[in-house]
Amino acid sequence: MTKPKVAICWLGSCGGCDEAVVDINEVLLRVAEAVDIILWPVALDFKYDSIRGLKDGEIVLSVVNGHVRNSEQEEIANLLREKSQLVLAFGACACFGGTPGLANLTTKEDIFNWVYRDAPTVVNPNGNYPQVSTHVNGKELTLPEFYDHVYALNDIIDVDYYLPGCPPPPYLVMYAVSAVLENKLPPKGSTLAPQRALCDTCKRNKSKPDRLAIREIKRIHEVEADPETCFLAQGIICVGPATRDGCGEACMNINIPCRGCFGPVEGVVDSGAKFVSALASILDVQSEEEITRIVDQIVDPAGYLYRFSLPASILKKKRG
Ligand code: SF4
Ligand code: SF4
Repeated sequence: MTKPKVAICWLGSCGGCDEAVVDINEVLLRVAEAVDIILWPVALDFKYDSIRGLKDGEIVLSVVNGHVRNSEQEEIANLLREKSQLVLAFGACACFGGTPGLANLTTKEDIFNWVYRDAPTVVNPNGNYPQVSTHVNGKELTLPEFYDHVYALNDIIDVDYYLPGCPPPPYLVMYAVSAVLENKLPPKGSTLAPQRALCDTCKRNKSKPDRLAIREIKRIHEVEADPETCFLAQGIICVGPATRDGCGEACMNINIPCRGCFGPVEGVVDSGAKFVSALASILDVQSEEEITRIVDQIVDPAGYLYRFSLPASILKKKRG
């Protein structure tokens, strides 16, 4: 019997999402028996040309991690879409743009100037910058085009399912794998993770007072956070009220507040805007001056509110 073909591929990725696939341990061996893995650049030596030679839709599932920021990543995303029945956006970068998406707060020119000219470790006496095409000894050398912005996968291709997290935890990876193998997938467009907010299951939730009211915002490294008490009740920003549950609370368990790698809760488009609204409702202030004083205590608001999701937010990038 022919086994279903599966591709696992990285675009703009740190490799952590591929690591997460390996983290399902011996289950991976059962998966490898049940399916024919025909592409997995981080682990196996396949060529893109073998994918180009497949019929459209011949791959049952492509698991794609990483964001899109250059023409090669866009080409591979389009190739996998063409050849696949289902595409799963795997990890925060593919789902929302991820932490690299914070680069949308700057420009391509500023990035190049820093990396190839201004960084103290750079030695570039001729002022060379990467070119899409260069001629050396009569031959043309090419590089992918670096785009102006970071994109989430669904900005480039149609995506069937989403599995967030940075990276997704093994139990959700296994859930996704069995949903595909057993043909028990939810409707197209679904996120393969719980639909509630992280606060709904957080062990610290019961420590919240009936009415949260904060007058100061502190950064996690400035205080010794109580490991049992809700971070927000301690005046420490935790975006759990606006973040989808499912991570397994890995950060909470080491006394670090949620930074939002699971993206917005079901039905919410912009988790940053949702958190601002939640925060506004718990500020204990009487005047505009006090609001300004507290808001000024939030150092790097974009880093708090859109750490994993700027390209998928309403803002998408720095405006103006
Ligand atoms: S989601 Fe996290 S682990 Fe996965 S590629 Fe992006 S940064 Fe790496
Ligand atoms: S705000 Fe953070 S610490 Fe408080 S209950 Fe929600 S997830 Fe837990």
